[in-house]
Amino acid sequence: MGAVKASLKNADDLVAAGLVRHEQRDALAAVAERYAIALTPAVVGLIDRDDAHDPMARQFVPTAAELVTTPEERADPIGDLSHSPVEGIVHRYPDRVLLKAVHVCPVYCRFCFRREMVGPAGLGTLTPDAMDAAIGYIENHPEIWEVILTGGDPLVLSARRLGEMMGRLKAISHVRIVRFHTRVPVVEPERVDDALIAALKASGKTTYLAVHANHPREFSDAARAAIARLADSGVVLISQSVLLRGVNDNVETLAALMRGFVENRIKPYYLHHPDLAPGTSHFRVSIEEGQALVSALRGTISGLCQPTYILDIPGGYGKADIGASSISGGDGCFTVRDFRGGEHRYPPDMA
Ligand code: SF4
Repeated sequence: MGAVKASLKNADDLVAAGLVRHEQRDALAAVAERYAIALTPAVVGLIDRDDAHDPMARQFVPTAAELVTTPEERADPIGDLSHSPVEGIVHRYPDRVLLKAVHVCPVYCRFCFRREMVGPAGLGTLTPDAMDAAIGYIENHPEIWEVILTGGDPLVLSARRLGEMMGRLKAISHVRIVRFHTRVPVVEPERVDDALIAALKASGKTTYLAVHANHPREFSDAARAAIARLADSGVVLISQSVLLRGVNDNVETLAALMRGFVENRIKPYYLHHPDLAPGTSHFRVSIEEGQALVSALRGTISGLCQPTYILDIPGGYGKADIGASSISGGDGCFTVRDFRGGEHRYPPDMA
């Protein structure tokens, strides 16, 4: 099977590329009617066709399991819509907003928390009038210190359009931080060229970029080179990952992923508990499993490599740190657990 040259976008493309069997075609066409499909050539190149449990395939190749929706799942699992004062803006926390300019991605992750909003049948790209209203909202709210460009994946926009948007943020003095959330450096690394990097920095603000990756194999040579171009340019890099059954739900893989981030100058930031997105129950681990994995990471790898384990509380109540606490007690007398599980009193007993 030769290398694919263009993104795969439907069940027939997947069959032709040898990623699914012909007998699966009709079931996957039904999935495609509900949820967008896209795999870039870079992602296809990372898939091991000989491994029935390949963690790269599991993230991007659709399965009939997505047709099963469980009662607790919901179309807007983290409650974006209840905090959206104008189209394209989510204002959940006092000092920051999400600016969702585009609901298109270069790949469509099978566990996506916004899967009902992204893709060709999703919420689309903001019109010029809607963008004016979104920028106007940021201008009129001086408490907004940080603007987070997410979506969709904002790096699918052309450098020219991104640069124009950054030019408008540049004029808003109370905005000091611009943050991008993206999967592009790993799934379409060739997009990260000089023009794109210049556009990312065109606001003149401190620029952060959160790289979404879930498995150490995502750090291909091309991805490493793209990430290095970003780091060399002065963009501050942080990570975000989702804890996913069958992809990274073991200590060895998580440790390699977090070390991969740090080796590539990306500071581990968030490890998300999977959200209650429709048709994703096959990806969900329990919170107890997640806490055990994160505790084991603490005893395995450098403090530089530790992410914060996060749950987005359904209903739009925001993020909560759900790593198991290492300390209990009160009234000045505590018990603290060390990284091997040993317990110690604090302050220590007097000898
Ligand atoms: S890149 Fe992000 S928004 Fe797009 S499909 Fe993946 S998780 Fe969803």
